[in-house]
Amino acid sequence: MTYEFDAVIVGGGGAGLYAALEASKSSKTAVVSKLYPMRSHTGAAQGGIGAALGNVDDDKPEWHAFDTVKGGDYLVDQEAARILAEEAVQAVYDLENRGLPFSRTPEGRIDQRRFGGHTSNFGEKAVKRSCYAADRTGHMILQTLYQQCIKNEVRFYDEFQVVDVIMDGDTCHGIIAFELATGELHVFKAKAVLFATGGFGRMFKVTSNAHANTGDGPAILARAGIPLEDMEFYQFHPTGIRGMGILITEGVRGEGGILRNSNGERFMEKYAPTLLDLAPRDMVSRAIMTEVLEGRGIRGDGRIDDHVYLDATHLGRETVELKIPDIQDFCKTYLAVDPAEQPMPVQPTAHYAMGGIPTDLNGRVVTASGVCNGLYAAGECACVSVHGANRLGTNSLVDLIVYGRRSGRHIAEFVKSTDSPKVPSGADERARSHVERIRANRGKNGAHPGELYARMQATMMTNVGVYRDAGEMQQAIRDLQRLREEFATITPQDDTTNFNAEVLGLLELENLIDLSIITAASALNRTESRGAHSRRDYPDRLDDEWLKHTMAHLGDDGSVSIDYKPVDTSIWKPQPRVY
Ligand SMILES: Cc1cc2nc3c(=O)[nH]c(=O)nc-3n(C[C@H](O)[C@H](O)[C@H](O)COP(=O)(O)OP(=O)(O)OC[C@H]3O[C@@H](n4cnc5c(N)ncnc54)[C@H](O)[C@@H]3O)c2cc1C
Repeated sequence: MTYEFDAVIVGGGGAGLYAALEASKSSKTAVVSKLYPMRSHTGAAQGGIGAALGNVDDDKPEWHAFDTVKGGDYLVDQEAARILAEEAVQAVYDLENRGLPFSRTPEGRIDQRRFGGHTSNFGEKAVKRSCYAADRTGHMILQTLYQQCIKNEVRFYDEFQVVDVIMDGDTCHGIIAFELATGELHVFKAKAVLFATGGFGRMFKVTSNAHANTGDGPAILARAGIPLEDMEFYQFHPTGIRGMGILITEGVRGEGGILRNSNGERFMEKYAPTLLDLAPRDMVSRAIMTEVLEGRGIRGDGRIDDHVYLDATHLGRETVELKIPDIQDFCKTYLAVDPAEQPMPVQPTAHYAMGGIPTDLNGRVVTASGVCNGLYAAGECACVSVHGANRLGTNSLVDLIVYGRRSGRHIAEFVKSTDSPKVPSGADERARSHVERIRANRGKNGAHPGELYARMQATMMTNVGVYRDAGEMQQAIRDLQRLREEFATITPQDDTTNFNAEVLGLLELENLIDLSIITAASALNRTESRGAHSRRDYPDRLDDEWLKHTMAHLGDDGSVSIDYKPVDTSIWKPQPRVY
């Protein structure tokens, strides 16, 4: 089938739905999503959304912007961070007005709690900035936005997986999507396309990310010649459930939870004397790894010391049940541990992509030759860049809301003055032959997809994880290039047409392998340590040489070439990062 809309939004998470809501006010808008929107990963966000409302402590957007820049180890584009912090306040009130049931202070205002790296008066002391709805903030955002989109008559195409983009030079005319139910490929013509396909934590073995977080948007655009920005910066959240990676929100430490090693010591006193357990995530993850590597970790099933404890027992049962009910549930279900009575075993888990599709302040995709017409990106798959080298907790939901909204507004204006898309017949040919190539039966000796997936995750976890060095990253690139070749020999098991999830899974694996290669190559190239990118062989931050964004181009043969883009440091001069 062929469809035509003014705006097509790829992805029904927080960023996609907010953009769709704004675009649909004055244009014919569709959301094309491989999941039912309510199942998007945004729904898993527990901790909250940062905004300087000042409801509990004194606060200002300027302080929020500064924390964002400092937390991002000065790789943040500062005007983008200023807009993020300023527009966050109204965006949160808009969500409230649209019906989001925030947790409340006794006076009835939106309640706020502490999160890592958020301070008042430029680092003076911790501030309560995270607005939250118990530990179900993301779920409530999705519910609120989805209802509003239905009201605005947005058309939803659920379980349609986008596999290609229709570009003519640097102008986008639409996308091609595979329908799970029928196995058909559909052409969606559009004056404007926005990618809001979320993160790609599945490239790592231990991750907090959902199975669908496979980076389809960035991979599709990388293969279409768009460079990806700052892909070496991948955040490990310090507190995943040991072995499983399921997230224990930073909100637990925000409520007063404490990290302890095998001697029962509050080890963060050594690493971040002021912010302690609520230092930025990259620092806390490294502190946990260092405790474990130096023999103060706690013994796991494999009889190796591999984790530490997150202790919330002193908070009391009432606080645990009221403020972090879902966490209590996860721990009881997966660990048979009740956090009100026993400490939780935790280790760092791959969590968030700071890098992605490069955009300007209105969500338009930008390359070295300028803005792409009609092509937008927002949310975790995009890089505007407000997170720099390390994202602060609660700043992703803000990014979705602020930049999702800005992109949607820009699209609404852009489509008014743009002609109908010109899509040549046969625009779906490339996607069709791509899918057919993947589905081809190559006999018995083909590689097994599950085995390739596991090898990709293992090499990324071991060689491009919390700590990195040149030898390990070179090994990862060799492993990944081999996987890319072996991928071409895969023999699918399922040759049915309807509901063939295997084909879609293979497309996702292919995307993850390409993004892993770009991540490893970008990381090997950056010979310094900054934020989440921490190299044993180059332990220092080197501003003279490396205060610049990486722009990585993927070649047809899987090679990666790298350019750079300057960082906007127009407001604050880079300082050493001490907490
Ligand atoms: C467990 C967890 C807890 C978190 N907690 C917080 C928190 O408390 N505060 C905070 O600020 N951040 C938090 N984060 C981060 C934040 O939730 C995510 O970065 C954010 O929700 C991503 O939103 P998104 O709209 O970009 O993408 P998502 O919500 O992941 O949605 C992606 C959408 O894209 C669609 N899609 C993907 N590929 C395709 C394709 N090929 N074709 C069609 N559709 C496609 C999917 O169907 C989905 O609808 C958390 C993340 C995790 C994993």
